Amino acid sequence: MEDITKDELAGQEQSVQDDTEEYEKVCFICRRPERKTGKMISMPNNICICNDCVQKAFDSMEASGLSYEDILRMSGMGPVETEPEEEGKKKNQSRPKMTNISMINLSDLLNVIPQKQRVKKKKPQEQQETRTFDIRKIPAPHKIKASLDEYVIGQEHAKKVISVAVYNHYKRIAAAQNGDDVEIEKSNMLMLGPTGCGKTYLVKTLARILDVPLAIADATSLTEAGYIGDDIESVISRLLAAADNDVEKAEQGIVFIDEIDKIAKKRNANQRDVSGESVQQGMLKLLEGSEIEVPVGATSKNAMVPMETVNTKNILFICGGAFPGLDEIIKERLNQQAAIGFCGDLKDKYDDDPNILSKVTVEDIRKFGMIPEFLGRLPVIYSLEGLSRDMLVKILKEPRNAIIKQYKKLLAMDEVKLEFEDGALEAIAERALEKKTGARALRAIIEEIMLDIMYEIPKDDNIGSVRITREYIEHTGGPVISLRTAGLLEG
Ligand code: ADP
Repeated sequence: MEDITKDELAGQEQSVQDDTEEYEKVCFICRRPERKTGKMISMPNNICICNDCVQKAFDSMEASGLSYEDILRMSGMGPVETEPEEEGKKKNQSRPKMTNISMINLSDLLNVIPQKQRVKKKKPQEQQETRTFDIRKIPAPHKIKASLDEYVIGQEHAKKVISVAVYNHYKRIAAAQNGDDVEIEKSNMLMLGPTGCGKTYLVKTLARILDVPLAIADATSLTEAGYIGDDIESVISRLLAAADNDVEKAEQGIVFIDEIDKIAKKRNANQRDVSGESVQQGMLKLLEGSEIEVPVGATSKNAMVPMETVNTKNILFICGGAFPGLDEIIKERLNQQAAIGFCGDLKDKYDDDPNILSKVTVEDIRKFGMIPEFLGRLPVIYSLEGLSRDMLVKILKEPRNAIIKQYKKLLAMDEVKLEFEDGALEAIAERALEKKTGARALRAIIEEIMLDIMYEIPKDDNIGSVRITREYIEHTGGPVISLRTAGLLEG
């Protein structure tokens, strides 16, 4: 029995030792890690305080007119004086009072200390150098695009641009690490396209292919620091979380900021534009590359969590947005050009162009409300097409994880074969088009039509296959159900 306890104790000691090897201390007051503060003073209950903070505490006490002896006396650590009661009272009166300062019991604070008070130690310098970015591991643009093709339907131009931009981006990191004197410019991107056409999906797929951390943020919730909403820098703490708090990994990650059009300059705004132009201003240094202090494991700097410094120089920023109304700005410009030109184009030539966004220029986006400095930091601008009926049909059945494939797999587990007639897929795509939310509508429609089938089929063991027809989608007929005994039943 005693042996076991000893073993356990030894085990615990070992794990504490492992912990200290892997994790470093964080100052309880300023939250900086030990590598920045220097050696810390350890106190009971795993509380550590850095020398700077201790010094600051003493300085402020001294500034309030207290001497070191007074402090010792007040904390009960000074020499104990035995004197007659009367005299003692007088002495007490002459003792300096600490205004607004009271002694606290640090162990009381334990309840408010969050559990994650530790930061992983940074790798030593030599080890960092061996971890330089291996450019040979980044696939060539055509290979990146081929992998994207497996998941993303259509959007050929966007896939090509993104593959080249990402390839160049990682080459740039490699060049910087090799100390090349020609500095390659950062290729942050701005992606335009209607909702549900695959902007987020494209970036997510890309991050998975490259195996780099990805943070997705929504520009609508971002506000200037100090206002209700998320600080701009919270984007970086999300990236750090996606990289398992590994700063080096996060520094080579991708940040996708969706709904970027929502931070356009507000027109006719006569108050401070805290969620529009100010956010654009605030993002400038982030896009360009700067050292940012971010809380580890929280998105607010006010939370009592450790801080880490992340350099955004090598982080690839991709901004995306639907930019409603931008098509009108483009049309207006094109129509004006056409009116001036010799060819005398028809005035409404561009009115029905579904891919008018592909003709966008920086000037158009500036007119929309993005500030020039912001656009200057997003040199790669491209657009995604709105999805057509045929593309939606392909999205239903072709990608590796296509929705239809997922349902087929589910029913195959019940040994039932599921088929969709071409007409049925077209009908689903037509219904999705009406909703004007791109491919996002597909999932909802399929869920709805498959509900009855997924409910009824497992009831009857004799059913061998189900064929979904156009009539079933249009509610004018039912699916074709065949039994294992090769009989046919009209459902
Ligand atoms: P948004 O452009 O608004 O960011 P998303 O990328 O979130 O749209 O698309 C929503 C969903 O639609 C994705 O999760 C994906 O399953 C599907 N999708 C959209 N576009 C495509 C596409 N081109 N190819 C394959 N799937 C797509």
